[in-house]
Amino acid sequence: MTIRLEHNSGTPLYQQIVEQVRAMVLNGTLPAGYRLPPERKLADALSVNRTTILNAYRELKAEGLIGSHVGQGTVVLAAQESESTPPATASRPIWSHYLSDYAGQFSQFQMNDLLDFANRTDVISFATGMAAPECGPAEALRGIEERVLTEDGGQYLMHSPVEGFHSLRVEIAGYMSQRGAYCTPGEVFVTSGSQQGIELVAQALLNPGDIVVMEEPTYFPAIQVFKAMGARIMGVPVDEEGMQLSVLELLLQRYRPKLIYTVPTFHNPTGTELSMERRKWLMALSRQYRIPVVEDDAYGELRYDGTALPTLKSMDSAGLVIHLNTFSKMIYPGLRIGWVVADRKLVDTLIAIRQVVDIHTNCLSQKIVERFVASGQLGTHLETVTKAYRHKRDTMLRALRQYAPEGMRWTTPAGGYYIWVTLPPGVACDKLLHRAERHKVAFVPGTLFSTTGQETGRMRLNFTFAAEHQIEPGIRRLCEAIRETVAQEPEGAPLVERNPIV
Ligand code: PMP
Repeated sequence: MTIRLEHNSGTPLYQQIVEQVRAMVLNGTLPAGYRLPPERKLADALSVNRTTILNAYRELKAEGLIGSHVGQGTVVLAAQESESTPPATASRPIWSHYLSDYAGQFSQFQMNDLLDFANRTDVISFATGMAAPECGPAEALRGIEERVLTEDGGQYLMHSPVEGFHSLRVEIAGYMSQRGAYCTPGEVFVTSGSQQGIELVAQALLNPGDIVVMEEPTYFPAIQVFKAMGARIMGVPVDEEGMQLSVLELLLQRYRPKLIYTVPTFHNPTGTELSMERRKWLMALSRQYRIPVVEDDAYGELRYDGTALPTLKSMDSAGLVIHLNTFSKMIYPGLRIGWVVADRKLVDTLIAIRQVVDIHTNCLSQKIVERFVASGQLGTHLETVTKAYRHKRDTMLRALRQYAPEGMRWTTPAGGYYIWVTLPPGVACDKLLHRAERHKVAFVPGTLFSTTGQETGRMRLNFTFAAEHQIEPGIRRLCEAIRETVAQEPEGAPLVERNPIV
């Protein structure tokens, strides 16, 4: 191994060593298993300080190119191989070196991990936020799909307009009007799920450094979207009446944010609902400060108790509300049909952006959903699922009352998908997650929903996805895991100061 250092090149010496060793590993000059000189020996040979070699080896280790083994010293590592991948050669690229700053912002624990949990047959999953598979209208949709493909001769497998088929937008505008939010088809923009709605609206409105106010805690993929756009996030605590608007008002006065993002009805993750009084107050604040409100209404129709409150869109006299919605929670998430209702000017901007993203939403899905809604089947389906979900919620609440250890508290949501649990003092979610995995039960740690990423001693339980007969044993197992974690923790104060929810 030959390394040449240039003392006056302007590149730090350790960096020169990293670059030369990296090149030799990648072009095969130093094969897997090659033993690098000990730090002191190389330092002497190159006449540099030992720290220089230490830093270089540390960086090469972080890149996965070399590693230390007891008794072997520092050796060149083989590229990771698995049975399904072609044999690694020394010249395979290390993709982490190529990634953009944008890609680097996304954390590892993401949607796929949650979906993996849901797909494991040995695990009872309260983790994913998915509709109950057994309640879905598969038969009805199959019939519609067949008709679309046979009667219409495949014409709906060509392109649709970027903003979605006009006929679907007519249905959605009608549906919104039934809910008191009158809009024209031209103000409706069909998305591939409301996650895309959040992304496109963020792209349309945010510049790096802009401030976005959100509930704390909140739907974590929305946090990621706004952060990836370079926005600064400010969290407003939630209590049993939803976002605490006195805090919001202070933030509006002091910081003039660009956007307020809220899930006012059956909030993810807390299950709470913004009270009528606060809805009026929020609209008044938005008008007063001229700040747009993104209303994410994914769960708005899934009410199990009480009477419906109006959407923010239906109270929007100033035209500042951007309404996001989706059929994912009502019908099936895999259909990927969501929508945005907004001022036509903003819809035009969304169209312009979307042209370079995925052009439009899947045509077949659009047509299937359109006919499902137009035939009046959505209404009857919603009656079926709300009945089933009410039952599942009650089963979970009963099981929590029966098995929860002392010091544990939870919300009683009047709708939506989630129960938000405050763990007994001192129980941290990450430890509990490992223990729960051993008990074959899954939940989502509250940390994920925090705008600051802090451990909150809370967790989110979904009650819609697991089969009815799994809920009681799942909660029993989870509570066992919590008891074991409590027994292991030294008695002590809560982990962090708690926000007022529950
Ligand atoms: N908003 C909220 C509040 C959600 O909970 C979800 C799904 N978990 C979404 C948006 C995204 O839904 P979709 O499947 O329509 O992209």
